Amino acid sequence: MTAKTSTSGSLFMVSAPSGAGKSSLVNGLLKLEPGLKLSISFTTRPPRPGEENGREYHFVTADDFLARKNRGEFLEFAEVHGNYYGTSKILIHEAMKAGTDILLEIDWQGAQQVKKQFPNVASIFILPPSIEALEERLNKRGQDSQEVISRRILAAGGEMAHAPDFEYVIINQDFELALSELSAIVKATRCRTSQQTVRNAALFAQLGIQINH
Ligand code: GDP
Ligand code: ADP
Ligand code: 5GP
Repeated sequence: MTAKTSTSGSLFMVSAPSGAGKSSLVNGLLKLEPGLKLSISFTTRPPRPGEENGREYHFVTADDFLARKNRGEFLEFAEVHGNYYGTSKILIHEAMKAGTDILLEIDWQGAQQVKKQFPNVASIFILPPSIEALEERLNKRGQDSQEVISRRILAAGGEMAHAPDFEYVIINQDFELALSELSAIVKATRCRTSQQTVRNAALFAQLGIQINH
């Protein structure tokens, strides 16, 4: 399926360095926008305390992940901070066919792969207000070992270098403000003419508006 196909579902992707607040913002967004469905990725990373298989991620072994990759089951995949992460192709294609809006929480490497397949994807990069804040948030979250936190902070600069490739950038200083900006992006994307003419095709016809596809 290409982005030119007439589907009424919008595709969103959010990227950020670890600790920028991506998961917190996405969780807040899902409460504000119940029509939005989060894609649950596959990962070889071990679950953090409190994480549940099938809720935050599908946690799999490296062998399982590579077998799925070889069967072509991933829309995109990447190695991030020493673990594999990938998005299930079937789930995304089915949701898009059904007209469901889908959100991907993926790293910049995966974002590049998705952009090639879906050029109309709404891409959002989340930045922390400073490196110090990023470090403080990772420490405060308290779910990763010191070694993992150091590795993620070291990687942050290289990840943030890709922010200019994204359509939107949100600076997550004040959480509520950042959340309202994320929600505004979702609302605006849903009002794109390309979406409205499909989602509200009957109204366009009723109003006698010609659509040139
Ligand atoms: P977080 O950075 O604290 O959210 O830590 P995670 O371990 O949950 O995610 C690590 C990285 O993997 C982040 O950059 C995620 O955006 C990325 N990631 C998660 N799922 C996927 C996926 O399905 N595909 C790709 N390419 N990246 C993913
Ligand atoms: P990510 O998914 O990008 O790794 P999280 O959503 O887990 O980041 O957020 C990292 C930590 O920072 C969490 O403990 C979260 O509560 C906190 N946090 C998120 N946004 C803000 C903010 N605007 N101000 C202060 N702390 C924040
Ligand atoms: P964490 O291990 O902290 O949950 O995630 C680390 C990074 O992996 C985050 O930047 C997250 O966005 C990324 N990530 C999570 N799932 C996927 C995925 O399916 N694909 C890609 N490419 N990256 C992912």
